[in-house]
Amino acid sequence: MSRGDIQRTRILGAPIDIVDMPGAMERVNQLVNGEKLGNTIFALNPRKVISLSNNSSLKAFFENAALIIADGYGIVIAARWLLGKKIERITGIDLMLSICQLATAKGYKIFIFGAEERDNRAAVEKLRVMYPGISIVGRSNGYIPKEDVFELIEKINESKADILFVALGSPKQENFLEEYLPILNVKICQGIGGALEVISERRKRAPMIYQKLGLEWVYRLIYNPSRYSNGKYLLIFLVKLLKCKLLMRNNTSHISSNH
Ligand code: UDP
Repeated sequence: MSRGDIQRTRILGAPIDIVDMPGAMERVNQLVNGEKLGNTIFALNPRKVISLSNNSSLKAFFENAALIIADGYGIVIAARWLLGKKIERITGIDLMLSICQLATAKGYKIFIFGAEERDNRAAVEKLRVMYPGISIVGRSNGYIPKEDVFELIEKINESKADILFVALGSPKQENFLEEYLPILNVKICQGIGGALEVISERRKRAPMIYQKLGLEWVYRLIYNPSRYSNGKYLLIFLVKLLKCKLLMRNNTSHISSNH
């Protein structure tokens, strides 16, 4: 599959694109203007690296994504340390907001699916204030019963949206897209996790100092202890990273001692 000029590499087996924000936006623009439907955009973080390594069907679906961004310094640091590659950290919410800005300028149509009704509604209202003229052609909360999903798909297709944001959290949003992408007539789908709760301002984003230091996850751990599992995944990620680095070092010294 062509990804323009964007190079794809791997971190502990998980695919990741070497791309900065301007490159990502160029890619989004190409995808909206291309013929192909159902291009997916996902954000990779240490937790997803671990879940992909335990779920081969999710991994295969991820592999086919049109764009995979590095959401989390864990990924940025791992790329530097293991591969010597510089990847810009682009959070899912930052990419989503940039896409909203681009869509407003170009007149692309957006559908927003996911989160609780009050957060979905408040986020849409907020986006309309942030980007005057934005074309949000439909929205739905993320708690619709299974038997109503086809009605939702019909609503999305009838809205003629170019871009679908799916905010169901991971891996629910990937599972949803894997199942229904073949019948969705949208150009792009981005999984945005809990972004609508942040946009609606029900969930606070970490203060700028945490964001700048790449420590948003520490802030979330302190203020939302239900996210301790993220800490556990980070630990597993770090151990795997260390093992991989040691293995690479051993292989290099083995090769050089044989010459
Ligand atoms: N959510 C949803 N439907 C569901 C389960 C979850 O719409 O059946 C929403 C939930 O309200 C929240 C988001 O999905 O807005 C999950 O956010 P979280 O931050 O946990 O996702 P992550 O970014 O960690 O994948």
